[in-house]
Amino acid sequence: MKQIEQDFKNLPKDRIAEFCICCGSKKLKNSPAVLMPFIAERVFNWKQIKIDKSWGLKTISKGQTYSICNTLMCSKCNFLFLDIRFSEKELSNLYTGYRNSRYTKLREKYEKNYKKRNTELIKGITYLDKVEEFIERNVKLPVSILDWGGDTGKNTPFKNNNKSIHIYDLGDSKTVKGAVKVKKSDLKNKTYDLIICSNVLEHVSYPSETLIDIKKNMSSRSLLYVEIPYEKLMIEINNKEKSYQDKRHWHEHINFFSKKSILNLLKKCKLNVVDFKKLDVPEGNFSLMQIISRKDIDQ
Ligand SMILES: [Zn+2]
Repeated sequence: MKQIEQDFKNLPKDRIAEFCICCGSKKLKNSPAVLMPFIAERVFNWKQIKIDKSWGLKTISKGQTYSICNTLMCSKCNFLFLDIRFSEKELSNLYTGYRNSRYTKLREKYEKNYKKRNTELIKGITYLDKVEEFIERNVKLPVSILDWGGDTGKNTPFKNNNKSIHIYDLGDSKTVKGAVKVKKSDLKNKTYDLIICSNVLEHVSYPSETLIDIKKNMSSRSLLYVEIPYEKLMIEINNKEKSYQDKRHWHEHINFFSKKSILNLLKKCKLNVVDFKKLDVPEGNFSLMQIISRKDIDQ
C-alpha cells in the first residue's frame, strides 16, 4: 500500500467529517445549514412535517421541520463541504434508480417544476464538443475508454471515434449504442487509454477512494479526465464576494471544490496534472473545471 493512500485510509471516517477530505487538514470552519428535504427523505427516510399544537411541545415553535447540518470549509485549501458523510448504503438509497419515476415523484413533492428540469437533464449535456476539444489537446484518437459513473454513456466523449467504450456505473440504466456496461469484476487487471470521471466526485463521500479505485485501471500511459462543477459560490468566494457562511443548503452536490482543493486531492492521490481548464457553459449558466492527469510513475 502506497504511503499516501494509507494517509487517507488512516483518517477516521466518522458520520460527521472531522478533516478535509481533499487535503486531510483538520483546520475546518463551520456554519449552520439545512439538508434539503428531498435528500433527507431519500437518504434517511426523514420526512418533512409540520409541527402543530397536537405535538404538545412546550419549548418548540410550531412550523415546518427541516433537517439541519453544517457547512464546513477547509482553512487550508478552501474546500467547502457538507459535514454529513453518507455511507455507501445511503448513497445507494440516493442514486439507485437515479432520475427514474420514483425519484422524480419524490423530488417533485419538494421541488416544484423538477419534472420539467429532469426532462432537460435526461437529454444529455450541450457541451460535449467542448469536452472532446479539451481532451483531444492531450490524446491521439482512437483510444479505449472507460467512463466511470457514465450512466447510459450518452455524455461519453468520442462515441464516433474510439477503440471501445466501457461504462462502469452503479445505476441500472441501459447503455446507448456502442457502449458496453462493465462490472467491478470485469475491471480486474484491465487498463484503458482514457478514463472519464465526469460529475462524480462532487457526489461521493470520499473522492480519494474513487480516484484510487480508478487508478487501478490506469497504466503509465493512461489519461484521466476529471470534470467537476466550478460552483458559482466557489468562484465568488475566491473573489471575496461571498463567504462560506452563505452556503445555507445542501443537495446532491455534497462537495464544492476550489481549484486548490481538487489539485490538492489529485496530488494526494499521486496523479500528476497535465492540463486544466475552467469551462463556462453560458447556455446552462454554470462553469466547470476540467482536468487531465496521469498516474505518477515514481510511486
Ligand atoms: Zn483542505
